[in-house]
Amino acid sequence: MNRAYFSSRWQSISARLLDMVYPPSCELCEAPLVGGRYLCEDCRRKLPRVATPFCQKCGEMFEGNISTAFLCPNCTDLDYAFSFARPVLLSSDAARHLVHIFKYGRAIHLARELALLAAEAFDDPRLQRALAEKWTLVPVPLHWARKQHRHFNQSEEIARHLGEILGLPMIPVLNRVRATPTQTNLSRKQRLQNLRGAIQISARGRRWIEGGKAQGVILIDDVFTTGATVQECAEILRKNLPENIVVVTVVRG
Ligand SMILES: [Zn+2]
Ligand SMILES: [Zn+2]
Repeated sequence: MNRAYFSSRWQSISARLLDMVYPPSCELCEAPLVGGRYLCEDCRRKLPRVATPFCQKCGEMFEGNISTAFLCPNCTDLDYAFSFARPVLLSSDAARHLVHIFKYGRAIHLARELALLAAEAFDDPRLQRALAEKWTLVPVPLHWARKQHRHFNQSEEIARHLGEILGLPMIPVLNRVRATPTQTNLSRKQRLQNLRGAIQISARGRRWIEGGKAQGVILIDDVFTTGATVQECAEILRKNLPENIVVVTVVRG
């Protein structure tokens, strides 16, 4: 058995092993797929999108007719540390399934599909400046213990692929230094209290800030629910950076 034979044989075996772990089929309808895709065009198109009219701060859609820029009732009283959040998908069963299986089912192969969806946010005219000036993608951090359990930080994986798709730098500027209990059943105020002091600038982030080339930050997370997590991240960043901070998420929870 020569070496070339062994190498190509090994490659085909490992490709088959990967196919066994992650069968190349649509995550939603199980249609067979090729080319490393895990969402078919039909299912992808059918995922309900956040579309105008939506809140200029949090992306919450407005039911009805309104033609001017508006803030939802939640956002009129809130002072965010970021300019705006731009989610792409509405919280449908399919969108929730994709995020859930990605995060809790260790389905890391879905990262690129979620990033391709998140990339649609950049059709928003408000994000053209971030693209032109090559702002840095910053993933919402995950505590190391939780990362060890999940095997990866979902936001970082989405941000990494998004960086490749859009040609933007991705730097994990933030660290979660304290594990926080799950936020699922907490109000926004409780979430903010829960997060206090849990997030800090990482050593890499510190070097990046001191380098003085930071133009702006695009915070990346899988879901925007109350905005408490990205708010805490943006507050930490705002103490260290000029004001250009925006948020992009795959889903509006
Ligand atoms: Zn499908
Ligand atoms: Zn809002």
